[in-house]
Amino acid sequence: MAKKTPEPIGVIAIDGPAASGKSTVGRLLAEKLNFLYLDTGCMYRAITWAALQHEIDVADETAVTQLAHDIQIDIQPVREEDGRHYTVLVDGQDITWQLRTPAVDANVSQVSSYLGVRQEMVKRQRAFGQRGAVVMVGRDIGTVVMPDAPLKLFITASAEERARRRTRDRKTQGHSADYDRILADVQRRDKIDSSREHSPLRPAADAIRIDSTDQPPEEIVDAILQMIKEPVNGNR
Ligand code: C5P
Repeated sequence: MAKKTPEPIGVIAIDGPAASGKSTVGRLLAEKLNFLYLDTGCMYRAITWAALQHEIDVADETAVTQLAHDIQIDIQPVREEDGRHYTVLVDGQDITWQLRTPAVDANVSQVSSYLGVRQEMVKRQRAFGQRGAVVMVGRDIGTVVMPDAPLKLFITASAEERARRRTRDRKTQGHSADYDRILADVQRRDKIDSSREHSPLRPAADAIRIDSTDQPPEEIVDAILQMIKEPVNGNR
């Protein structure tokens, strides 16, 4: 029997908790495959930043949901060689680095728990996914945004390792960083993201689970590329 050529993959869905390595893996994978890359977390961060900027109370679900409908979020290629991996514009303003502040970290899980906010973002994310050849990274890509994606990955790592990575990243970016506070924030966000009513963080039933605690992103990417080349029975 002739060997069946694997069908081209349209969307790769990657989910997992904060700092699990999913963004690095997703970005490297997109580069290798010449796919587009969409980090959906930055969309929820952009709304959170805008709410703080406009002094909208993040506990005010109606106001935050209205804001999510009103703001324009553009994700564009790198514009400045300052360590960024993409550029995020909100209503035309470059806010790429403002998305990573402790204030945004502290409030983003509340903002992303609102149904109306999620519905609006999922609509925008699906429109992006329709283009095909996309690696999309988040919390609910395999379960809600792109449930028909032919390849779904769920990347985890221990909370301590994730907090170590975040601490290192913030120090590399020239900020002060306290490991204990970052660990507490990672654990708090995990709890809210996993227990929220709408689209909680969980692996899709058909997701491949990867623990990145002791595995560098490059190795994970090589393993995924191998998987794509030689799909295991029924995995794709
Ligand atoms: O991935 P990142 O840590 O940047 O995501 C920030 C926050 O955005 C998460 O803690 C989560 O609350 C929310 N998020 C989400 N659904 C996604 C992506 C991110 O709820 N698809």
